[in-house]
Amino acid sequence: MSHPFDLSGQVAVVTGANTGIGRGIAVALAGAGADVALVGRSRAEETAADVVALGRRAALIDADLSTIEPVQSVIDRTLAELGRLDILVNNAGIIRRADAVDFTEEDWDAVIDTNLKSLFFLCQAAGRHMITQGRGKIVNIASLLSFQGGIRVPSYTASKSGVAGLTKLLANEWAAKGVNVNAIAPGYIGTNNTAALQSDETRNRQILERIPAGRWGDPKDIGGAAVFLCSSASDYVHGHVLAVDGGWLAR
Ligand code: NAP
Repeated sequence: MSHPFDLSGQVAVVTGANTGIGRGIAVALAGAGADVALVGRSRAEETAADVVALGRRAALIDADLSTIEPVQSVIDRTLAELGRLDILVNNAGIIRRADAVDFTEEDWDAVIDTNLKSLFFLCQAAGRHMITQGRGKIVNIASLLSFQGGIRVPSYTASKSGVAGLTKLLANEWAAKGVNVNAIAPGYIGTNNTAALQSDETRNRQILERIPAGRWGDPKDIGGAAVFLCSSASDYVHGHVLAVDGGWLAR
């Protein structure tokens, strides 16, 4: 009998896989046995090398997800290059910071289009395929701001709260069709996305003081949770937003 976390023979799509959390997830899925399509506007050469070093196949797929124009081609190319599609991880995302009174329409649209609109239409395109084959796993990357309000990031909070809601809606529609839709809400993870916070001495100290685990998270911390939600170990988990936050939300 295969191990419940084993992903051997499966194909995963990971968006925003060249760096940070996306890279951590792609490498973790490959470590569990999956071949991985690495999707993004920057080519994920280093992640591909990590995947190949683990004995798995990697496909590099160029796609700028600030619009939904490339969505169907991401699915079609994955099928053409890796032969199947079992897992979608919607990780690509951006953040814009400004006071709510000054927030621009451009900063609103850019974040919503990438973090929420493209995520939904990728779920739709992958979901159609997964429903037809009767099984599949979708993991959306949410945020602590799927639960909390945050400050100076209105479009980001709106997008990530939307990701949590969509995850539950899709789970309600697709659970009985063999497709698991769940989300991971990372806490404070050391990546490009949080570089400004890490380099601000006061904010960095305030954040660390509030994390029960006493450290920033690492992309590897998210990788383990992703393997669980992409494997048969989570077959009865639907519509859940799993916080991987060093205990932040427990405070
Ligand atoms: P990151 O290092 O900035 O990575 C973001 C990824 O998204 C990069 O691969 C980036 O590509 C890609 N991306 C952005 N816009 C794109 C577009 N238009 N088309 C295609 N790809 C695009 O940040 P991260 O921290 O790893 O973030 C990954 C996800 O985790 C995001 O959804 C973020 O909101 C979420 N998250 C992060 C934290 C954290 O503490 N770090 C906490 C909660 C949630 P480029 O390299 O080309 O920009």
